[in-house]
Amino acid sequence: MANGLNNSNLKSSNRGLMLQLIAAGKQPSRIELARQSNLTKMAVSKIVTNLIDDGLVEETGIEETNNVGRNPIGLGISSRAPKIVGLLIDRKYCMAILCDLRMKILLLERLDLDESCNSTSLQKTIYTLLGKIFRSPQADTVLGIGVGTPGPVDINNGIILNPPNFYGITNFPVGSILRRKYDLPVLVDNQCNTAAVVERFFGVGKYFLDFVYVGITTGIGSGIITNGQLLQNFNGLSSEIGHLSINYDGPVCTCGNRGCLEAYIGTPVLSKTIEELTGERLSFRELCERDGTSPYTELFEDMIEKLGSALTSCINLLNPQAVVLGHESYWLSDMRTNQLEQLLNARKISQTYRHIEVIKPFFAEQTTVLGCASSIAALVFSGQLLSGK
Ligand SMILES: [Zn+2]
Repeated sequence: MANGLNNSNLKSSNRGLMLQLIAAGKQPSRIELARQSNLTKMAVSKIVTNLIDDGLVEETGIEETNNVGRNPIGLGISSRAPKIVGLLIDRKYCMAILCDLRMKILLLERLDLDESCNSTSLQKTIYTLLGKIFRSPQADTVLGIGVGTPGPVDINNGIILNPPNFYGITNFPVGSILRRKYDLPVLVDNQCNTAAVVERFFGVGKYFLDFVYVGITTGIGSGIITNGQLLQNFNGLSSEIGHLSINYDGPVCTCGNRGCLEAYIGTPVLSKTIEELTGERLSFRELCERDGTSPYTELFEDMIEKLGSALTSCINLLNPQAVVLGHESYWLSDMRTNQLEQLLNARKISQTYRHIEVIKPFFAEQTTVLGCASSIAALVFSGQLLSGK
């Protein structure tokens, strides 16, 4: 349950909270909003009236209930409410979306990156994608641009620092480039952090306030939600689960440490292992589809052991309620997900006191791109951008 505050000085905060509950809810009524927020019915009615007057919220008809008497009216985000732009910068492609505050995608554009990519061509690709988005009549009012990128990222200054396997691009100031061009708020973050944020507000976060999102792909990233908040720190760098060492005497990683998880089970490493055995170069999804036959079974048995080793340390450190397997690890079979869940619960400290769930992201393959937009939605829900008069 979220907690609102009955204090006029916190009007913006409560307004943001109402927008969050309406955007992430199923057409909640005013009574339902009062229950969820711990605000009085009168306070909720006043905020909702203002939100309707401002064109942000609309009544959606009569809510079906089993109660006798007059059924309450449901509320939803108005189709006239401002929209959000999300920009996903990945190693192989860039994707841009226009979506509403409910994370419904209205427009999606994608362009692949090739081996000749450099900072100039990357900027051009981004302008091309966003140009298509902003030319749409649906993009007449945009609140801001949320950007998700490979790490490491300087979140405070919106700079992509020096991601491994990213065409040698370093210190790419995507935040200032976009602010200058579009004159809008721009938030830049590691794409695992943003994926965790969209799940926090609209997905698995409805059930868990403490979870670790793990994104396995070329690199292995993480986004940590603790007590409902994204774990962020002063220096603007995000958590990097892929660089937890599982072998102090292991091979030297791109980061300088030894035996990092990423050096063992990043998807290119797994694909290369199979290529050396079979001569076939397969994507991680294709590898997952062959799990159950040799040599793929052995590959995944080993992968789960190594992932489980790193995650056990992570769980003992953070005590989350759940682990969310996202990015390409979304394609792992249910059998592997269950295997990992059993392994973690058998090895973590205080085994008998709580059960850690291992689950897939609610938004499946779209988690990463929606995550980018959700960082702007999170600002709105914190009482900013649409704070009213
Ligand atoms: Zn490392």
